[in-house]
Amino acid sequence: MSTVTKKVFATSKLPHNTGVSAWVAMLPTREIKPRLERARTADVVIVGGGFAGLSAARRISQLEPALRTVVLEAGIIGEGPAGRNSGFIIDLPHEVSADDYGGDCASKSQQDIVIHRRAIALASEIAVEHRWDSRIFDPCGRYSVAMSEKGDAHLVAYCAQLRKLGEDHRLVDAQEIASITGTRCYTSALFTPGTIIVQPAAYIRGVADCLREPISIYERTPALAFESNAEGWTVKTPQGSIHTGKIILANNGHAESFGFFKGRLLQIFTYASMTKAFAPGRLSGERKWAATPALPMGTTVRRVAGQRGDRILIRSRYTYNSMQIVSEGALKRAGAQHDRKFKARFPGLANVDMEYRWAGGMALTLNAVPAFGEVEHGVFAACGCNGLGASKATASGIAAAEMMLGYNSELTQIYRRFPAPKALPPRPFTTIGAKANLRFREWKAGAE
Ligand SMILES: Cc1cc2nc3c(=O)[nH]c(=O)nc-3n(C[C@H](O)[C@H](O)[C@H](O)COP(=O)(O)OP(=O)(O)OC[C@H]3O[C@@H](n4cnc5c(N)ncnc54)[C@H](O)[C@@H]3O)c2cc1C
Repeated sequence: MSTVTKKVFATSKLPHNTGVSAWVAMLPTREIKPRLERARTADVVIVGGGFAGLSAARRISQLEPALRTVVLEAGIIGEGPAGRNSGFIIDLPHEVSADDYGGDCASKSQQDIVIHRRAIALASEIAVEHRWDSRIFDPCGRYSVAMSEKGDAHLVAYCAQLRKLGEDHRLVDAQEIASITGTRCYTSALFTPGTIIVQPAAYIRGVADCLREPISIYERTPALAFESNAEGWTVKTPQGSIHTGKIILANNGHAESFGFFKGRLLQIFTYASMTKAFAPGRLSGERKWAATPALPMGTTVRRVAGQRGDRILIRSRYTYNSMQIVSEGALKRAGAQHDRKFKARFPGLANVDMEYRWAGGMALTLNAVPAFGEVEHGVFAACGCNGLGASKATASGIAAAEMMLGYNSELTQIYRRFPAPKALPPRPFTTIGAKANLRFREWKAGAE
């Protein structure tokens, strides 16, 4: 009689969200889906209710509507990184340094654009279903803004690459960007029209809320472990369990907590602050705009118009946190940096305080590829968002669902070609190297 060894994967830690995200605080309280409190069966279990997990569930419902799919979210939908980011669903490659465009980089950029536009297509379908207005989903494009000669030069180099790629763009001079943003701090900008700007918590709640039976979502229900059995897998949660044939791991950096991609994911956190509402007349320019920095590692800024007044979002600072937890002290230090950046850009609003501050995790890989593919029989990973997760994680969720169902698409062909994430150097070296690298790159970004 042959015996099959049972495989068990248990998580070593659960996600923790530090700080209160303004995006959640500004919405009505969510009607939270119940916890799983029984044993049940399903065809597919998705671990994680962020961009990747919910997009995977939606794609499954389109391709195989009869499949009983369960989404397990450890926290509350919208409170994790997918709902606490800056809300840019970006179409073009993010890293705009000329170094990224040598050799065969044009074809890599084109591939990235296919990935990002597939995500934008899904987001746009959902926007139509919900009849969202521009407060939640705004196809208004974005500005890349420079504050130094180095930043200006970077934008000019990026323009040349966009021309080669045939992508629409427009250089904006200092005067015009001042008339849009109401601040004279920017020396030039580049407008690209394809980015979607969302209220991220409203968006991700909306993605969840358009999933219907036979898809079930359980919130405040972490997957603690999964073990193999004769028919597939049993996923254990604190008060229940699910027998399933297939699993999609869509829990980004926490794939590593289950033992997958060990020593291959860089657990990077970034931080944001949002001001109190101020009277719109206090800042000239348009009441809504969104800007990413010309230089990677710089500062993202958004002006958000609301009924009670307008607010400014500042997102900057990256830290390496291998244990995937950010302390209140780290949040405070990032907040002090945000205050300085805010004052430098908006001296006329110097007495407007920040109301919310928060942090959130991203998982990067050394070779910038996703942590993707069938990692065990019937277990698929759609993790390692590499920063531009609103686009990349959405696409990897779609690709994981398609691959799991044996569906061939342009996206699955791209994802099949990705190499595995490279191994990081041993822990002490990674820690020292990552911290030094982040500091150096932040220093290089200077005022940007
Ligand atoms: C402040 C900030 C600003 C950002 N701005 C942008 C931006 O403007 N544009 C952009 O593209 N990206 C941005 N990002 C990055 C982006 O938010 C992430 O890349 C993206 O959320 C990754 O999506 P995901 O679905 O892979 O993972 P996540 O959004 O992290 O979702 C994974 C989910 O899995 C859940 N989970 C983990 N473990 C378990 C478990 N054991 N059981 C059940 N559930 C589990 C988590 O609670 C989480 O909700 C930003 C991030 C931050 C923090």
